[in-house]
Amino acid sequence: MTTGCSKDKAAILIIYTGGTIGMKEDPVIKALIPFDFSQILDEVPELEKFAYRIDTYTFDPLIDSSDIEPASWISMAAIIEEKYDDYDGFVILHGTDTMAYSASALSFMIQDLTKPVIFTGSQLPIGTLRTDGKENLISSVEIAAAKDSEGNALVPEVCIYFDNVLMRGNRTRKVNSDNFRAFRSENFPPLAEAGIHIKYETKLIRKPESWNIRPTFHKRLDTRVSILKIHPGMTPQVVESILGGTESRAVIIETYGAGNAPSKEWFLALIRSASSKGKILLNVTQCLAGGVDMDIYATGKSLKEAGVCSGYDSTTESALAKLFYLMGRYESNHEVTAGLEADLRGEISK
Ligand code: ASP
Repeated sequence: MTTGCSKDKAAILIIYTGGTIGMKEDPVIKALIPFDFSQILDEVPELEKFAYRIDTYTFDPLIDSSDIEPASWISMAAIIEEKYDDYDGFVILHGTDTMAYSASALSFMIQDLTKPVIFTGSQLPIGTLRTDGKENLISSVEIAAAKDSEGNALVPEVCIYFDNVLMRGNRTRKVNSDNFRAFRSENFPPLAEAGIHIKYETKLIRKPESWNIRPTFHKRLDTRVSILKIHPGMTPQVVESILGGTESRAVIIETYGAGNAPSKEWFLALIRSASSKGKILLNVTQCLAGGVDMDIYATGKSLKEAGVCSGYDSTTESALAKLFYLMGRYESNHEVTAGLEADLRGEISK
C-alpha cells in the first residue's frame, strides 16, 4: 500500500535519546560527543514542510547508546505512556549500537500498541554533508504519521527505520558498523520500503485487537539474565560460572546452527544441573538467519531433554528483552516459559 498521511494535522513526538545522529567532533579529544540537538527542527528545517505538529523531548543527559540500560527503556516507555493521547506517533532518535535491544524491549513493554513507535538514528552525524540522518529522520516522521483511510495508524508497531527499510524492531540486528545499511531483519521481511513512495506491506504489519484499547505499559523488568555463547574450547569452569551463577534467573545459550551444542558429558551435566535448580535456559542460534530446532540433531535433542527451551528464530537481542519483560511480570518460571513458547509481538515464527 502506498500512502501519505490523513488530512488532519498529525502530531508527532520525537524523543531524542542521543547517538551519532546528534553528535559532533570535539576538537580537543578528536572523538564524537553529543551536542545540543534539542532544536531538531532548526537542524532539519525540511520537517516543517510536513504539515504536522512536531514536538521534541530530549533526554538529559544524552546517552551514547553503549550506555543504554533497562532504566532508559523504562524512561522511554514512561514518556510514551504519559504522552500517548497527545500524539499520533512517536519517533525515537537513538544510537545504533544498542538500537535493536531498545526496540525489542519497547515492543514487549508496550502491549496493545495502536500507534507507531519508530526508532531511527544514523551512521554519520546529521551536521555532516553525506549524513544518512536526515533521510532516516524525515521518513521515520512520515511513517509515524501515516494513517489508513479510516484514520488508524498504518504501522502500530515498534519498528526500526534505517536506510530506506522499515523493520519490526524485535526482528532486527545491527550487522554493520560502517555501511549505511546498518540493520538487518533476516527472519522477517521488511514492513515497508521507501523509494519514490513509501510502500507498506500492510499484510505483514500487526494490528491491535481493538483500535479503542489503551495500551498496557509494563515497566517492571527482571534483568537477571546471563548469556552463554557456545564456542570450541569452552572449559567446565567458565560454563559452570555462567550456568551456575546465583545472580541469574535465566541463561540464554547461543548455540551453533539449528540449536546445537557440544555433546560432552560434563557440558550436559552442567545444563541438567542448572535446569534442575530452576534456572530458565533458552536456546537461540548464533546464525544471523534461521532458528533453533532441537529435534534435528542428537546434540540439540540432548539440550531439549536436559530442559532447555527453544528460542525458535529469535534474535539474541529480542530473547534478552523478552526474558526481562516476562520475568518482570511473572514470579513463576512456569509462566515465563509459557510466554517464551508464545509469539507475543511477532518476534518469533513457529
Ligand atoms: N556509539 C553510537 C551510539 O550507539 C553509534 C551510533 O549512534 O551509531 O550511540
